[in-house]
Amino acid sequence: PITPTPKIWMNGDLVDWDKAQIHILTHTLHYGMGVFEGIRAYETSQGPAIFRLTEHIERLHNSAKILGMEIPFSVEELITATKETVASTGLDSCYVRPIAYFGYGEMGLNTMPCSVDVSIACWPWGAYLGDDAVTKGVRLKTSSWTRHDHNIMPPASKTTGNYVNSSLAKVEALKAGYDEALMLAPNGLIAECSGENVFVSRHDKLITPPLSAGALEGITQNTVMTLAADLGFEAVCDNIARSDVYIADEMFLVGTAAEVSSVNSVDDRAIPCPGPKTLAIAELYGDVVRGKVDKYKDWCELAS
Ligand code: PMP
Repeated sequence: PITPTPKIWMNGDLVDWDKAQIHILTHTLHYGMGVFEGIRAYETSQGPAIFRLTEHIERLHNSAKILGMEIPFSVEELITATKETVASTGLDSCYVRPIAYFGYGEMGLNTMPCSVDVSIACWPWGAYLGDDAVTKGVRLKTSSWTRHDHNIMPPASKTTGNYVNSSLAKVEALKAGYDEALMLAPNGLIAECSGENVFVSRHDKLITPPLSAGALEGITQNTVMTLAADLGFEAVCDNIARSDVYIADEMFLVGTAAEVSSVNSVDDRAIPCPGPKTLAIAELYGDVVRGKVDKYKDWCELAS
């Protein structure tokens, strides 16, 4: 269950958690045309810092652009609003969920006359794939559900409706006794997991599928590419096939919620875990998000 925090930002105002309500005929509830973000604020020596907040809000605007939705608040306004909301929680660290959606007033599939509403909520949220996800690793299963094709549901937009596909895959994997679903694009190549980007290490090179493979352009993926270079690891965005995964030297998942999580098997084929590169990247990532690495302090945007 979610632990409530005092306030939720809605269209410019901080309202009480229990009063942050919407009408049952809110357009997006029916048709899935909303865009959202998942962000984490971490405890730092200078107070809570929101990791790569600017990039997350820019992606929110890009997700909306892909849907043809105009968010009535600028990137700068939403950055300020997010900081204000995080500060209002009084928490040292939390998860942050901005969402923009077509509101109450119109029904039917034409979104052009619809109003766009925006809210930002925060709550405490621990490690998404478990506290020991780095050391013990997670078990993946290739999903029976295919990830979106670019001309069916745009995977580069973090659209609420896209997550029907993610939830179907996640629940299928959990019911079969696995931790997470590995999702293939319609062409059979690896796209991503239900809520994380994928990295494999083969021939001493880290490889992660790009946007064109049907993956979300992950902010953690981008962070990890940068940190891998600092650690002297070659890392590229490229296609990977199911067979690459089965014979990977190591494999890990990355995302704001999942952070860096090792993979210990895919479809019951064991993958060496935790791999040395995975461990090094996970450790550095943990320091960077907490503002402990000077070079990346700009990524840690202080809430106040
Ligand atoms: N892919 C999907 C489908 C996701 O939901 C997420 C989480 N937002 C990611 C990848 C990872 O993205 P990020 O690192 O920006 O959180």
